[in-house]
Amino acid sequence: MTNPDCTAKRENDSAKPSTRTSLGSGSAEWIELYNTVHTHAFGTPLRVMDHGKGARLWDVDGNEYLDFLAGIAVNSLGYAHPRWVAAVNEQAGKTAHVSNYFASVPQIELAARLLQIAGAPEGSLVYFANSGAESNEAAIKLARLYGTKLLGAEREQAGAPARIIALTHGFHGRTMGALSTTWKPSIRHPFEPLLPAVEFVECGDLAAMRESFDSAGRPGVGPVAAVMLELIQGEAGVRPLDPRYVKGVRELCDSHRSLLIVDEVQTGIGRTGQWFAFQREDLSGGVMPDIVTFAKGVAGGFPMGGMIAFGRPLASLFTPGMHGSTFAGGPLAAAAGLATLSVIEEEGLVGNAEQRGEQLRRGIMACGNPLFAAVRGRGLLNAVQLARPCAHAAMNWALDHGLIVNAVAPDVLRLAPPLIVSEADIAEAVSILAAMPTDLSSD
Ligand SMILES: *Cc1c(COP(=O)(O)O)cnc(C)c1O
Repeated sequence: MTNPDCTAKRENDSAKPSTRTSLGSGSAEWIELYNTVHTHAFGTPLRVMDHGKGARLWDVDGNEYLDFLAGIAVNSLGYAHPRWVAAVNEQAGKTAHVSNYFASVPQIELAARLLQIAGAPEGSLVYFANSGAESNEAAIKLARLYGTKLLGAEREQAGAPARIIALTHGFHGRTMGALSTTWKPSIRHPFEPLLPAVEFVECGDLAAMRESFDSAGRPGVGPVAAVMLELIQGEAGVRPLDPRYVKGVRELCDSHRSLLIVDEVQTGIGRTGQWFAFQREDLSGGVMPDIVTFAKGVAGGFPMGGMIAFGRPLASLFTPGMHGSTFAGGPLAAAAGLATLSVIEEEGLVGNAEQRGEQLRRGIMACGNPLFAAVRGRGLLNAVQLARPCAHAAMNWALDHGLIVNAVAPDVLRLAPPLIVSEADIAEAVSILAAMPTDLSSD
């Protein structure tokens, strides 16, 4: 922390040495400094956090929080789980990174484990990445490759490239490729032009989807390489798709030889009460995807993501040199991932997600606060629909009362506690929410 730009901002504090404590002594001061050294991409941080344990987090002022956001559905095991800490420490003492010219044992074990928990058929393969957006980039590239290699006749007939269909309200990340499939106009339009041959179809409207498929072959309209969707649209406010719709989309994909890409960056790895959301009949209608992407929860807080391509020949389309990333699947991330999956399995956290989720939704609806109009979600990915658009004030009120929740939409709070959350933690969160005043100011 000896950056001259940092210390320059403190010229009135002339006598203080440039140690950590001289720069900021409390949350408010650190936040002021944050804003002088970071772009404003993330807005002003709510607090400056210091450390955590289980489902609890402490800020630099020593305030304690019950964390029902878990770093946006990332910290599956909560904070500082001893098994995770030990695995990361042990691997850090061996190798953190070796490049993809070499492999590591945790990387191979993690890929095998992911194929197993996904119930992936013979011939399925894993590609690792470092974030959700990057996982989707890999899926988009694989879909493009599929369109180029396997839909040749259809492309020629249309004289146009194969398309990727995404849904309105969908979120797939912020890098340029992933952003091309992310719906929200305000975050997409300033960065156009993005990828061509990406089309948005109204979420939930099967007739519109069929129409888009049927338009293939008209002059300038290519075949459909893939449909990309989230089974629960997380960033749109935790909105589950209708399983009958998903089944219908799968049938359209089958009859047109198109891929179904399910983005499980937020829903994957136990979050919804199954290892993957597509394994829930009440979300997927029982259909299998061709590609699943995952990230947030997979390595318990360590940046990691990836993609599973189901079955041959799809999974074998990437040949050496076609795609890659320096850090992807590195041993430290893989060891963190392996520890996360092991703990989830051994502590029964997939089942815990299902049970605690039910307790949470029931508790909120029964708590009698008229501000809460409805709850929805699966497992531990949940939303509280507010009666008024006061989500930001609600989030701030909860934070001031020791509970971290997230205003995911103007009238929606997202609740995504770590998978280790206990019955008592849920009861405590419900009792804090129950006391929330109903006259909070609107967004
Ligand atoms: C968070 C999220 C992403 C993007 O992940 P990053 O790690 O932020 O790049 C993509 N898809 C879904 C469904 C997500 O929830």
